[in-house]
Amino acid sequence: MTNTNLTLVLSFDEAGNYEPAGHNLTPEKAAKRVTEVQSKGRRAATLEQRERHPSLNFKSCRPCREAAQECTKNHDASAAAPQEQPEITPEENSGAE
Ligand SMILES: [Zn+2]
Repeated sequence: MTNTNLTLVLSFDEAGNYEPAGHNLTPEKAAKRVTEVQSKGRRAATLEQRERHPSLNFKSCRPCREAAQECTKNHDASAAAPQEQPEITPEENSGAE
């Protein structure tokens, strides 16, 4: 059983700075927390947790902070850098003898 059905809530601002806003939440509680975050003028994102976070307080929770950092990074990447994939053209150099 890996599905814990627990949700991690992150809040973020226009600049895409994510902060933990709650963890170990049931979908119901997570939805409530999202509303709370939004009522403060911030945006909210939810993530499914793979496992219960051992820390009681999400503010001092490492998995939460790491998730927030990861999202901040991804936000930057998707906002700033258009994902250009360099096309690899195989050179047909058959000069080997
Ligand atoms: Zn956590």
